[in-house]
Parts: sequence; structure tokens; C-alpha cells
Amino acid sequence: MIPKDHPRYHSLMTRERLAACAKAGIVSWEGLTAHGRGEAFDYLIGERTTPSALLSERTAAALLLSARNPLISVNGNTAALAAGEISDLQRASGARVEVNLFHRTEKRVEMIENLLRDSGVDVYTGKAERLLPLSHDRAWCRREGLFSADVVLVPLEDGDRCEVLVGMGKTVIAVDLNPLSRTARTASLTIVDELSRALPHIAQACGELSVTEQEQLIRSVDNHYYLAEAIREMTLRLSHALD
Ligand code: ATP
Repeated sequence: MIPKDHPRYHSLMTRERLAACAKAGIVSWEGLTAHGRGEAFDYLIGERTTPSALLSERTAAALLLSARNPLISVNGNTAALAAGEISDLQRASGARVEVNLFHRTEKRVEMIENLLRDSGVDVYTGKAERLLPLSHDRAWCRREGLFSADVVLVPLEDGDRCEVLVGMGKTVIAVDLNPLSRTARTASLTIVDELSRALPHIAQACGELSVTEQEQLIRSVDNHYYLAEAIREMTLRLSHALD
């Protein structure tokens, strides 16, 4: 039992939830270590949404709203951390939601789809096929889903698939607290923010942006700027850490 007045209450509760989801088979054991890497970078950025991250979140909303066929690709960690936020974002953006897993079994896919449905997500199912040129199981997706989407939001992505999706001509929006990862550097737009903070900002912007604002944001997408700003924020915090 974690007391509510514990200074790390939110972080500890999140770990408990992920551990419970790992025991249930929703989150992979490897997913727990990926979360740890995210936590470390979140410390460095001050566990808050920076101004440049907020701008990237508004830009992500603009990209999703202007897409012909937007899609959110969900893995175990994303479902465990933010199923409700995915549901809100789906409603705000009109995006399809599909489950794609690195450590893939039919049973895990089904458990994650059920978890999402319980939070109100309309999950795109249909027949999965090995459609992406990848040797691991993230190659599996649906022809009318991820395969044909033009704008894809991929929270907590791995670098390999990100590269393949960009190579297929898709606009790839990643959420990754590590601005140095291959994913962050390869994506069309990287949001350097914690997933459960980022998604509500994107959903909110979907309800706010005019068409003119959307066009302006899309014209000025600059992934290098978002990454450079995140690194600058982290460096600044480190250099004043002991003040
Ligand atoms: P790459 O293959 O892109 O170089 P990687 O090996 O770090 O990256 P993964 O192991 O798939 O890729 O890790 C997923 C990434 O997600 C990590 O970089 C981690 O910083 C980030 N991450 C983990 N949890 C969160 C979270 N809750 N919010 C945002 N980012 C997160």
C-alpha cells in the first residue's frame, strides 16, 4: 500500500499498475525496463510538459486532424498507462486504433484489445497480416489499418518500425521521452513528453485548432527543433541540479 502523501506517489502507483499488467500478461517484462528508461529521462526534463513539447503536441493534433486516414498504434505499455487517454484522443481526432506488438501472441493482442474496449476505445481488429518489411513481430498489422494509414501516432515506438513506417511515406508521430533514441531521431515529429501527459494535450488541441492554425503548425514542423529544445531543457536542469 503506497501512502497518498508519499512524494513519489504518482510514479510509484504507475509502477504498481505496470507490474500488475505485466503479471496479467498485458505488459511484457521487457516493457518494464523500457518504462524505467522513460522515467529516467522524465526526471531530466523535470516531469512536466515543456513549452516545446506542448507545441509538438498541438502540431500532432493538426497532423491527425488533417489526415485522410489517421491511426494510433498501441502496444502493451501504452494500453496499461493510458487506455482512457487513447479513448479520448480517438474521439477528438477520429483516428483508428490498432494493437501492434513486438512481443506478440494472439492472447496478448486480445487482452490489450479488451483493456482498450473497457476504456471506451473502438478498436480496429480485422485480419492481421505480416505486411511490414521487418523480421520481428511488429511486422503484423491490418491492411486497412496501419498499412494504409497516412498519419500514424506511435507512442513508445521502437526505432526499426519507425524507420520502416517513414520509409513507406507515412507521417510518423512518436511520443518518446528519450530525445536521443533512434525513434525520436527518425520520426517525422517527436513529442518529448510523458505519454499520459502528452495524449490529453493532443486531444485538447484537436478540439481547439482552427483550419488556419492547423495549416500553420503543419507548415512549420521541425523535428530537429523539438529534439534540440528537449536536450537544451535537460542540459539546463542538469547544470543547475545542485544549485
Ligand atoms: P530506439 O529503438 O528508438 O532507439 P529504444 O530501444 O529506447 O529506442 P524501446 O526499448 O522500445 O526503444 O523504448 C521505448 C522508449 O519509450 C524509450 O526510449 C523510453 O524512453 C520511452 N518511454 C518509456 N516510457 C515512456 C512514457 N511513459 N512516456 C514517454 N516515453 C516513454
